[in-house]
Amino acid sequence: MEKLRCLILGGGPAGFTAAIYAARANLSPVLYEGIQPGGQLTTTTIVENFPGFPGGVDANTLMDSMREQARSFGADVRSGTATAAELGGSPFRITIDGEHEILAESLIIATGASAKYLGLPSEQKYRGGGVSACATCDGFFFRRKTVAVVGGGDTACEDALYLSSLAKKVYMIVRRDVFRASKAMQDKVLAKDNIEILWNCNTQEVLGDGFGVTGARLLRKDGVVFDIEIDGFFLAIGHHPNSELFAPWLELDANGYIVTEKGSSRTAIPGVFAAGDVQDPVYRQAVTAAASGCMAARDAEKFLLEKQ
Ligand code: NDP
Repeated sequence: MEKLRCLILGGGPAGFTAAIYAARANLSPVLYEGIQPGGQLTTTTIVENFPGFPGGVDANTLMDSMREQARSFGADVRSGTATAAELGGSPFRITIDGEHEILAESLIIATGASAKYLGLPSEQKYRGGGVSACATCDGFFFRRKTVAVVGGGDTACEDALYLSSLAKKVYMIVRRDVFRASKAMQDKVLAKDNIEILWNCNTQEVLGDGFGVTGARLLRKDGVVFDIEIDGFFLAIGHHPNSELFAPWLELDANGYIVTEKGSSRTAIPGVFAAGDVQDPVYRQAVTAAASGCMAARDAEKFLLEKQ
């Protein structure tokens, strides 16, 4: 059984920032990257909104740099996924890949969230070729083009509004005849001339030319099937926070996000901290995740100091 002062789960901006701060505070952190090294950000191409990169930065390059920076301060970055957790009290028992057992005095959960997709083969085929689940990341590539946003919640409305300022036209594909979004967001969307709502519609297929998206085939509730011409297809049907493993121990909100104390990364269990998208249903940006990773490392440092 390996004993650690600080274990970090998750290799996105939150996890690596936590590792940088924890390593510099001599906590000898070990970070496990999980199944998507680099985190959700690596599902996009160029990141243009991370401060410090006026010309944009390739998402994989950015994450490689964060990993290298964490390692340069002595963080031990490993591959592996937490498969079991016992969080009764510090030290916490975590199993990696079903076999390697760790006792950690402090634990930083930065396991992120995963965007939901419709589950269509054509959607998977064009991921990165016009299909995206991140309007803020990829919207800029659709300037003066036509795009569709799937979903009727606050995220879909926010994405449609963002895209409407860049694209020529935005379709919203909404599966019912009402939005789920707040009234204020609905009003903003309905006031936009270049957003057209396609009510009662489900996507049957994303259409493409082999290289990129060219359209979508929709089925309306009255049985009518029709195609729309689009260049980009944006999913905004929600995210799953990757918190299942911790559900028996930690307080989760109605959507599964780990609840942290306001203004900190502290969970209800002393010594367990949460950072990044696994605890953030609202901002979900690389830079906000990184900032909360810093908070978690500082909180872990304080916890360990007080525990001595
Ligand atoms: P929501 O779960 O609120 O909305 C998901 C939307 O996607 C719903 O319209 C839902 O339809 C639709 N949907 C779900 N599955 C499918 C599917 N398979 N096919 C087609 N449509 C589908 O998720 P959001 O990400 O929008 O929001 C999550 C939380 O974050 C909410 O609490 C929201 O208020 C909050 N948020 C707040 C913001 C803000 O305050 N500015 C910004 C963004 C999010 P249906 O309604 O029929 O179920």
